[in-house]
Amino acid sequence: MFDPASLVRPNIRNLVPYSSARDEYTGKTGIFLDANENPFGTLNRYPDPRQAELKKAVSEIKGIPVENIFLGNGSDEIIDLCFRIFCSPSSDRALAFSPTYGMYGVSASVNDVDFITVPLDKNFQIDFPATAPHLKDKKLKLIIICSPNNPTGNCIDRKTILKIASAFRGIVLVDEAYIDFSGQASLTDSIDSHPNLIVMQTFSKAYGLASARIGIAFASSEIINYLNRVKPPYNISTINQKTVLRRITNRSYFTGQVRKIKSERERMRLELEKLNMTEKVWPSDANFLLVKVKDAGKTYKYLVDNGIIVRNRSSVAGNSLRITIGTRKENDTLLKFLKSMDI
Ligand code: PMP
Repeated sequence: MFDPASLVRPNIRNLVPYSSARDEYTGKTGIFLDANENPFGTLNRYPDPRQAELKKAVSEIKGIPVENIFLGNGSDEIIDLCFRIFCSPSSDRALAFSPTYGMYGVSASVNDVDFITVPLDKNFQIDFPATAPHLKDKKLKLIIICSPNNPTGNCIDRKTILKIASAFRGIVLVDEAYIDFSGQASLTDSIDSHPNLIVMQTFSKAYGLASARIGIAFASSEIINYLNRVKPPYNISTINQKTVLRRITNRSYFTGQVRKIKSERERMRLELEKLNMTEKVWPSDANFLLVKVKDAGKTYKYLVDNGIIVRNRSSVAGNSLRITIGTRKENDTLLKFLKSMDI
């Protein structure tokens, strides 16, 4: 039987978590003289530390029990918590597949954890034979897989992810920040069969709520318990919990936006492919396109000079720009400038 406790850092396993006033009394009515709050005003009370109402709504939307859900202050907080729970500083190791989201390496550095990358293959898929030897490394505690991947935009083959999760005795964190823009099924359906799997999503992308800073982790209740024990007690503000709760109950609003973004993604792919400067537009399952151009530095500067900011990914993906799909009008403006540069 797989025991997640065996993967947890000893100091975290033995942690006596902070118990906040709102953890101890969860009733909604009463005279609250327990948390040293100011009795006046409207934002004077601490938020619900367990985000019960919001979690219930997430549970209904995703069809996953509340005990398998953790909410973080953005998925960036969840990434950091995974390092803090599973990797001992200056001893353990984490692995990701390059090119990928830069915060994995930054979180590893912040936590003083050795970070190694295995390059994705020419189709930006995981090279399993190159990965397999690392799975036996006793110091390797955390593997992070981004799918759809940032900045390449493609989904990572599901069977390969599950093969890694089955073969590895550490934690596999699958970052699905962009999953709602893809046609692929989420790996949340595999958290029961793979108890070392954590699937992460966010309200920052398809739900259009980046400003609210709420990320979601789906995992076994044992892993969720560790995340709850380590997080700061009031990690998500009341304003943000309420805003997200209000917005996610209106599903048609969100699905309509996703439909528009996906159709613009296809239009932009076709338009960008027509340009002389374009060498390749990578297929995308996300809300951005990775475009290999003749001179990324020059194109980037030209766009910035004209008030359009894209992401120059040349340092990680060779002469490439990562272009987020905007509104139709924003996309048209970008195309207009690129066309006038293309002669
Ligand atoms: N994962 C990936 C792959 C991302 O691209 C981003 C943001 N760019 C994040 C996580 C962070 O998301 P959040 O806003 O939930 O912290």
